[in-house]
Amino acid sequence: MKIITRKEAKKQSLSKYFTGNPCKYGHVCEKYTNPTERAGRCIECTLKINKKWRKNNPEKKRKSNKIWEEKNREKFKEVQRKGQNKYRKSMAGQLRELCDHTSARFAIGKISKKKFDILGYTPKEFSAHLLKDTKFKSVKEAKDKGHSIDHIVPISYIAKHIKDKILAFKIAMDLDNLRFIPAKENLKKFNKVNLPIVKETIKLLWGKYSIKEKGGNFAA
Ligand SMILES: [Zn+2]
Repeated sequence: MKIITRKEAKKQSLSKYFTGNPCKYGHVCEKYTNPTERAGRCIECTLKINKKWRKNNPEKKRKSNKIWEEKNREKFKEVQRKGQNKYRKSMAGQLRELCDHTSARFAIGKISKKKFDILGYTPKEFSAHLLKDTKFKSVKEAKDKGHSIDHIVPISYIAKHIKDKILAFKIAMDLDNLRFIPAKENLKKFNKVNLPIVKETIKLLWGKYSIKEKGGNFAA
């Protein structure tokens, strides 16, 4: 980085300057030129202060996000689109799509021979497993009542640890990894009450498929 004084940076209309000297917290990085409340403050310090502010003002942060979104509608949509595309192309995104598609087929009593050969259970067994502790007569009925199929060991976790695609699919769709939960609960699945179940299931499945990669250390 080129060393430049604040005065010189101002003259050149640069938003930041770099003196090479640490700030009073020991950060050696650029500082802001502009005469705002952050003038003369270093980038690292500013990031820290902003983070703390966001943490202490979640309501204001949400509001300012909303305002930014509205002002930058197109840009916001594009950022969202890029994120979704990236996820879709990722291992987790592809596994998610495959699982959702397969579950939907199972739910209407259909499964291809290829998938049956991989998973080893029929649509009937799939439904019986999901419905065993419920009062519903069919997967469709349960779904209509707001229940959703949950992968106990999350797809993101499986995608991260199992590089073989077929094996990852097998584990994600293993009956021991599937359960019905009410839709609302789905969002809160990482709460502490659930964590032991996830850990237990990882242990069970990792043992079942003789996976050597460390699978027991599930944390969030
Ligand atoms: Zn600093």
